Amino acid sequence: MGKGKCREVDPETFFPSDGVGVLRARKICAGCPVASQCLEYALTNQIEHGVWGGCSERERRRLLRARRGASLAVTTR
Ligand code: SF4
Repeated sequence: MGKGKCREVDPETFFPSDGVGVLRARKICAGCPVASQCLEYALTNQIEHGVWGGCSERERRRLLRARRGASLAVTTR
């Protein structure tokens, strides 16, 4: 978190109320050197709110569903 670009920005930026706000946060995350670690942290801890690692809440839910599906596919083989 100490290396994230968000430390230079108002934290509210990462908890947008609309799609425009998500895009604004995503632009900041795009230039962040720890974006992949940030996203993984949010996924691992199932953080529901905000933009983490450049992904919105909806995108993270989709990723988690895809991971669950992939792990089920592996266990049923
Ligand atoms: S990727 Fe994570 S650490 Fe980096 S700017 Fe975005 S919210 Fe902050």
